[in-house]
Amino acid sequence: MTKLTFYGGVDTIGGNKILLEDKGTKIFLDFGMNFKEQMNYFTEFMPMRKCACISDLIELGLLPDIKGIYRQDYCKHMNLDYKTQNSIDGLLVSHAHIDHIGYIHFLRKDIPVYVSPESKAVMDLFENTAPSGSYHEYSEMKPGFKLIKKVKGDGYKRADSRDGTESRDINVFSYENPFKIGSLTITPYRVDHSLPGATGYIIETSSGNLVYTGDLRFHGRHRFWSDNFVHHASKSEPVAVITEGTRISNTEKRSESYVQNESSKLLNEKKGIAIANFPIRDTDRLLTFYNTSVDNNRILVIEARQAMLLDLLDSVGVDELPKSNDKNIRIFMPKKSWGIIGRCEFPKEIIAQDYTQSTEKEYLERKNIITAEEIRQNQEKYLMFMNYFQLNNLIDIKPKKESIHIRSICEPFSDEMELDEKRVRNWLDRYGLSPAHQIHSSGHASGDDITSMIKEMNPKILYPIHTEKPEVFDFFKKRTKVKYGTEYQF
Ligand SMILES: [Zn+2]
Repeated sequence: MTKLTFYGGVDTIGGNKILLEDKGTKIFLDFGMNFKEQMNYFTEFMPMRKCACISDLIELGLLPDIKGIYRQDYCKHMNLDYKTQNSIDGLLVSHAHIDHIGYIHFLRKDIPVYVSPESKAVMDLFENTAPSGSYHEYSEMKPGFKLIKKVKGDGYKRADSRDGTESRDINVFSYENPFKIGSLTITPYRVDHSLPGATGYIIETSSGNLVYTGDLRFHGRHRFWSDNFVHHASKSEPVAVITEGTRISNTEKRSESYVQNESSKLLNEKKGIAIANFPIRDTDRLLTFYNTSVDNNRILVIEARQAMLLDLLDSVGVDELPKSNDKNIRIFMPKKSWGIIGRCEFPKEIIAQDYTQSTEKEYLERKNIITAEEIRQNQEKYLMFMNYFQLNNLIDIKPKKESIHIRSICEPFSDEMELDEKRVRNWLDRYGLSPAHQIHSSGHASGDDITSMIKEMNPKILYPIHTEKPEVFDFFKKRTKVKYGTEYQF
């Protein structure tokens, strides 16, 4: 008998945490954070309390109340049970979006984590850019020992050398190469999504095959990957399928080439700067805007974090993306607290002191960095990545007439995001960039693609999750109305 319990992604998009139990083997499928639920309680100005993070999140129903799975140092500190032995044999990561990995840093370090090479690269980027990352590095919580920033190089380390950083038990698999965890045999398949490394799984259990789609789409640059996964999944004659359903009631399926063509039309012969906002770690979209830039004799300006991601992906063998030192790429160095970048009266070492984030420090040394001043002088030469947190750079860039702004992200889904949008509009209006041009391709499959996928796999039981509209899956008679925390057997 095999059991499934859903602790996230139930009637909501994201936050997947699925417990699978089979003959005494227990694994989690993803351990993500749900943004919406988290924002119901916390804001930027009232963040989660680090001193009580696990107990607070359990209290608020954001983390499952299961003994023996959370970090023992945190549990001890938070007066939670920390003596119960670990009973979890592994965690399969579908992809490294926060709604699938966001709560991993609360888990015990002896739970083995299984990831694709590209997911590991994205997690490496988080580790390097977010001081509280802890996705694969793990530092004990000990009051009295503060985190300090290292003067040079790779990120944040503990102040005291006795209190070293350890690595989590990270296992990088290769696609379509089965591996075993206890009684389970797991085969990971590449799928196409808006993040490199997205994986779907076929899991052989003692009750038959279980398929977990993670997040996927069939209209992207790599639709073949998703098709191949579905083909193998259907051949395995699955007993149960856990599917995502983000856009189950949406028929639209614009592709990356749609984004490229529409953006190119807008850019054609324009004399001002082109600015694009797209998900920072979506390298498929980065490639789309890279191609758009080259087609229009422009250079793509990216952030240091994106340059680092290109390098990390290059190091795991991804070869379809431009290199961070490509002649059509520049790395933007924004002004920091002193704002002295590009001013020749200051020596290099002083300028370097203005950059505290390890990524920026590292890429500051690169030959292809660019400043706002340089962009301002030759606006027609650049297509620049700019998200909501960088809009203040417009003050230095001063977009000329015929400048454009492309919005290549999904529509806002919360009040807080609506507020952000208002602020963005103020900036765009002020600098003559309104209206923004919405040109996007979703990372999630359309409703009809999900429907055909399910029909092709034709499982005995279907568990739709990662959706706000589970009732739309009623077309499939064998669907289960998934409830939070309920144990399902097959
Ligand atoms: Zn997701």
